[in-house]
Amino acid sequence: MGNFKKYNMYINGQWVEPSSGEYFESVNPATGKPWCLIARGNEVDVDRAVLAAHHTFTNSDWADMSYTERGHLLRKLGDLLAVHADELAQYETLDNGKLIREMRGQLNYLPEFFYYYAGLADKIHGETLPIDKKDMFVFSSREPIGVVAAITPWNSPLYLTFLKLAPALAAGNTIVIKPSEYTSASLLEFVKLIEEAGFPPGVVNILTGFGDSVGSPLTSHPLVKRIAFTGGSESAKHVVRNSANNFSKVSLELGGKSPNIVFEDANLENAAMGIIAGIYGASGQSCVAGSRAFLHESIYDKIMKIIVDRVSRIKVGDPMSQDTEMGPLATLSQLENVEKYVSLGKQEGGRLIHGGKRPEYLTDGFYYEPTIFEHPDNESRISREEVFGPVLSVIPFKTEEEVIKLANSTDYGLAAGIWVSDIAKAHRVAKRVRAGIVWINTYRSVSPIAPIGGSGLSGYGREGGIEAIYEYTQTKTVWVNTSSEKIQDPFIMR
Ligand code: NAD
Repeated sequence: MGNFKKYNMYINGQWVEPSSGEYFESVNPATGKPWCLIARGNEVDVDRAVLAAHHTFTNSDWADMSYTERGHLLRKLGDLLAVHADELAQYETLDNGKLIREMRGQLNYLPEFFYYYAGLADKIHGETLPIDKKDMFVFSSREPIGVVAAITPWNSPLYLTFLKLAPALAAGNTIVIKPSEYTSASLLEFVKLIEEAGFPPGVVNILTGFGDSVGSPLTSHPLVKRIAFTGGSESAKHVVRNSANNFSKVSLELGGKSPNIVFEDANLENAAMGIIAGIYGASGQSCVAGSRAFLHESIYDKIMKIIVDRVSRIKVGDPMSQDTEMGPLATLSQLENVEKYVSLGKQEGGRLIHGGKRPEYLTDGFYYEPTIFEHPDNESRISREEVFGPVLSVIPFKTEEEVIKLANSTDYGLAAGIWVSDIAKAHRVAKRVRAGIVWINTYRSVSPIAPIGGSGLSGYGREGGIEAIYEYTQTKTVWVNTSSEKIQDPFIMR
């Protein structure tokens, strides 16, 4: 192994070597070459991290801290992130190949997530219940759950971590995070800000390694009480089975096959840009990728011309370069997966309109051309299964009723885009399309204030917004008998 930067794990406020003594390489997708070494954790390290998080949850300054103070710490963390956003963006681009200008934009916005949950930290209150019994005073409170296990994929390592970290800490939990084995470095760099903000040791712990040797023992650990998972549907099934050991509360943010629908009265220029942003942003490696474009037959040729013209000018190349529009895929296996789907699309009778191969001029790295397939219907596997790459399936439609049926004929239910001028139609379709997030005349907009999440194969639970913080709490109901009377009959419930 070359002379690379070497990352250890972060447990109980200390940098620790993996008990295996082993490290693995993390590869820069723009070059296809390794650039750093990551500790290979195992179940011994998992136990150590979970015990530390459990101890901190039950018996520490953190356990005794007021919610307002926790909010102050989160605000400070947001401030530090704002200062270090550009530096962390560099690490994200180096490790997962997303465009530096996109990562800078994202990282500079992400402090807002900490500010939002910092503000909510001391507003997590219960209720006084107007109880239907005499001489009883009843109230509820929302308490933290305990140790949270957070597992994330490689496509937006810090953003997807913060969606879990900020509400989990605001609600008073402790956390053990396992980033993707492909993209651990940015989170390990971020840890210094957690220390600098003043979080006590053991509140945030980071384990690195693989799904079977770290993710699996972590999600089945008896002291883990809450699991927040973002990733693929197959891994999620293992996670849910593991959670049964312990009946931990689980949230799942999984994939999608999201429809982007263009009606005949849409602003076609904007709709074309929305479709391109939806599928080629982040090289299509986005859970909300608008991978199916449904175009009304009356505007089909016109909008296809705009889309194909712009797609043929997309600049694919080095993600560190300011004028690149599409970087590489994050891993070689993801590139091969895209190739597999493209050959399947051809076999299934899809018409390849653009792309469909690795760019000839980029020999190193995991690059793929922006690709467009035309399909007569929604039946092929490439238009039903998540490709997680820059491959758009285009399907024509005739009526509103038909397109709602087509859009909903998927096992996923994460996001949808609607491009339309008729406001009544916009609301009708938004109501009937099965998706946790609907964007009308926009796509891929996010905010800490707006919940995200899906149904079906896209998972359950919500991240973002006020409800996310409730997902990191459990309700306690307290009954107080205010009567001074003697309890007469122990066998009758009051
Ligand atoms: P993945 O499921 O392979 O891996 C995700 C994480 O789970 C990794 O950290 C991995 O090590 C871990 N893991 C794997 N097997 C595990 C197991 N048995 N037990 C516990 N942990 C395990 O997913 P990926 O390929 O890294 O990411 C792509 C997927 O993530 C896509 O399906 C994408 O749609 C989804 N995603 C969803 C969202 C969302 O918010 N809905 C956001 C981004 C990505």
